[in-house]
Order: sequence, then C-alpha cells, then structure tokens
Amino acid sequence: MKSYDVVVIGSGPGGYVAAIRCAQLGMKTAIIEKYPTLGGTCLNVGCIPSKALLSSSHHYEEATKHFADHGIDIPGDIKVNLEKMIGRKQAVVDQTTGGINFLMKKNNIDVFEGVGSFKDKTHIAIEGKDAQEIEAKNTIIATGSKPSNLPFIELDKERIITSTEALKLKEVPKHMIVIGGGVIGLELGQVYYRLGAEVTVIEYMDRILPTMDAGLSKELNKVFKKAKCNMMMSHKVQSVERKGDEVIVKAENKKGEVVEFKGDYCLVSVGRRPFTDGLNAEAAGVKINDRGQVEVNEHLQTSTSNIYAIGDCVRGAMLAHKAEEEGVFVAETLAGQKPHIDYNLIPGVVYTWPEVAAVGKTEEELKADNIEYKVGQFPFRALGRARASGDIDGFVKILADKTTDEVLGVHMIGARCADLIAEAVTAMEFRASAEDISRYSHAHPTFAEAIKEAALAATDDRALHV
Ligand code: FAD
Repeated sequence: MKSYDVVVIGSGPGGYVAAIRCAQLGMKTAIIEKYPTLGGTCLNVGCIPSKALLSSSHHYEEATKHFADHGIDIPGDIKVNLEKMIGRKQAVVDQTTGGINFLMKKNNIDVFEGVGSFKDKTHIAIEGKDAQEIEAKNTIIATGSKPSNLPFIELDKERIITSTEALKLKEVPKHMIVIGGGVIGLELGQVYYRLGAEVTVIEYMDRILPTMDAGLSKELNKVFKKAKCNMMMSHKVQSVERKGDEVIVKAENKKGEVVEFKGDYCLVSVGRRPFTDGLNAEAAGVKINDRGQVEVNEHLQTSTSNIYAIGDCVRGAMLAHKAEEEGVFVAETLAGQKPHIDYNLIPGVVYTWPEVAAVGKTEEELKADNIEYKVGQFPFRALGRARASGDIDGFVKILADKTTDEVLGVHMIGARCADLIAEAVTAMEFRASAEDISRYSHAHPTFAEAIKEAALAATDDRALHV
C-alpha cells in the first residue's frame, strides 16, 4: 500500500495549491480527483470558462456597438459563431487544466483518478480508474461545491440549467430567465444578453449582488437595464415548468401578485452548496455541520486532528483565491509554520463589464458595528483614461475610519476593477490610511488614478478632478 505524508482529496484551486505547497515543503504528497481533468470547478466549469465567454462576448459587443465610435467600420454583418466560441472556451480550459498536470509532475505529486472515501482516519479507498487503498498521515479535504437548487425546481439540464450547462449551450437563447441576481447569474446573463438573448433576472432580495455595497448594486443594475434586461427584484420564484421548448417561471412580487415569465432557457443560479457526497467522512470521525460544510477550527482542522478541510466545502466565501489561501495555510501549518489569513481582506469580484470589486467592510456593515467612517468617492467619468477608452461608467469608493483615517473598505465598479482591487488589498494589508494612498504617485493616465482621487476625497474632500 502506498503511503503519504499528505493526501489531498479534490483538485480544485484549494486542493491542487495545497498539494503544491506541501510538496514544496518536502512532504510526500498525493492528490485524488474523481474527474479525468484536474482543476476542479474553477478551471473546468467555473472561473476560467466563464471568463473566456465573458471575453468573447465582450469582443462581440465592442465590435457591434462600439467599433464605429472609434472610427472602425466593418463591412457586412458581424455574426456570432457560438460553436466556435464555446470551442475556444474549451481550448482555454484544456490548456489550463493541462497546466495543472504539468505542475503535479514538476512537484512529484502522485495523482490518482477516482472517488476518494475514508476507510478510517489514516486510510483512503480510491474507487475508479486508479482504484486502490492508500495510507495518509494527514489528509486535506478539498471537495468543493456543487450548484444549489430550490427544492421545487427540476433541473433537466437542457432548458432548466445550472451554470455548468450555460457554459456549453448549442444556441443563443431567445429569452433566458436567470433565477438569482448574484455573481454567477449576472456574469452568464451578461454573456447571453451581449450575444443577443433577451435576459430577465429574477432576484428574491430587493437588489442584485445583495451582499455587496448597495451603491455597486445600483450602478450595475443601471448597466443591465440600459442593455434592456428585465431586472425583477423582490420576486420570490414559486415554480419553474418546462413545456416543450418553453420554460415558464412563476414568481410572487412584493404586492403578493403572481407574475409569469416565459422563456426558452432558465438558468438557476441560486448559489452553491458544499459537496462531500461519497467522502464517507463519518468513518474518519470528520463532522459535517447542518449546512453541509465540513466543520473546521481556526487552523482549518476538522474534528479529527490529522484531517484538515479547505475551500468551498468549509465556511466562508466560496471563491477560488480564498480556497488557494487556505490550501497554503494548511500546508504551512503541517510544516510547523504559523501562517495567517485575514478573511476581511479576501476581495470579491464580479467580472461583468463594468467590473465590480470590493474588499473590507461595506457601509452597511460599518453602520451595524457602530463604527464612524468617512467616504471618499470618485467617478471614472472624470478620468482622462476612462474617456479615452470610452469606459466611463462607475466609481471608486473608499471608506476610512473617521478618527484614524485607516482604510476600512474599498468598493469599486468600472473598467478593470478586478485588477485595481489588488491595490486596495495591498493598502489595507499594510493598514494604510486614506491619506497614505492619496500621497503616493499613480501613473497618468490610468484607471488607478480613481483610487488616488477617492483617497483624496476621503481626506478633507481634496479630490482634484471633480
Ligand atoms: P472545487 O473547485 O469545487 O474542486 C473540488 C474538486 O474535488 C472537484 O474537482 C471534485 O470533482 C473533486 N471531488 C469532490 N469529491 C471528491 C472525492 N470524494 N474524491 C475525489 N475528488 C473529489 N471564484 C472566483 O474566485 N472567481 C471567479 O471568477 C469565479 N467564477 C465562477 C464562475 C462559475 C460559473 C462558478 C460555478 C464558480 C466560480 N467561482 C469563482 C467559484 C470557484 O470556482 C470556487 O470557489 C472554487 O472552485 C472552489 O475551489 P475548491 O478547491 O474548494 O473546490
């Protein structure tokens, strides 16, 4: 029987990063993945394919709607070749997952294909292609998550679909009904409205992106409305029914009236649930809580001391970079180091255009915690760089402690915010004040100048360009 210092179950961004860091630190490491390709949700059916389609559909939108403004005339009709677009997405996925195989080899990590399930706290049975039993001194559970559903919806995966199917449709829907105005629903909703589908977003709460700063929700809602999407807030979906190629969704509005929506596709994007099916956690004494998450302490250790769990299958934000941080954290803990993760500084990003990104506390949270704060906000429209490229929607908002000026939260919507948020994370990691940010140089002309200007606005209203 093969024996390892560490066995990682699941090869998503949590699992494969944990395995690499364990190997770097000199531990004999193996990884078990039930699918033939490595990379988990993120690389196969999540972050990477969705960004590939967002990029392709963005190019299409630019070509059809904005090239002419730049003096670029394209003779004839511009058409979408969806098969080719989906094919390109798959090529990006294949290249990226192939890269993980390379990294496993490079780091001498043994890869087993099959479902890993505990026999006891140091033995794992693998069922599938590489069926066998292996011994693990320590195990890291990184089994991730699956799309959630509402109990009364029957997903047929053809017309009533999850994000996984939405990434490989064979036609552009005529009318896509998106249930859930969260990150995944909005990103995929934007892909398909750009490609020509009518899109209706039905959200139970009174705004899209309900966990983010309300100002960001409002601004992105405007963008979707401008694109003629039907944004139905405060609607509680009651039923989803398929009749032939038609999907009928009924939802109750605030007045208690039942409203009917008819489309040809319904994307159910109501969140994700932790996935531990087939793991046989009980055999190792690993507790799963009533939310389906693997229960962990502050060291990400489960109820069994030599077994750890990370990523989407434990508490906290379901994000690839959070899973990666946790993977490194556990590897370094096993090596006797004392790593640290500041969960307050894990940024959240929505890759629509304009992009939405945030880190730290929202105004809503600061108010709830009775923390006095100042606000500095700056619109992208006032930046030369934004006008030059035509990306004028959005703003940067900095929240700083009223007394100490320490930056407590940064919320932004606009071009390239997914990348710009890294500056805010860095500043907050080093506990910068708004004045600190306002005093270092930002290249001109860049979108990043909005961060400096927002910091100037937060410190005695000193923004220069509004
Ligand atoms: P996963 O990536 O889910 O990987 C778990 C792996 O474990 C899977 O490969 C699974 O097959 C395997 N597994 C499970 N059980 C077993 C078993 N018993 N034996 C063997 N293998 C097993 N996050 C971002 O940060 N940015 C984004 O832009 C982003 N976009 C997304 C877009 C979409 C459409 C979706 C669905 C998700 C997106 N996410 C994004 C979320 C991100 O994909 C997850 O947070 C991330 O993949 C979690 O990583 P993980 O390692 O915990 O689990």
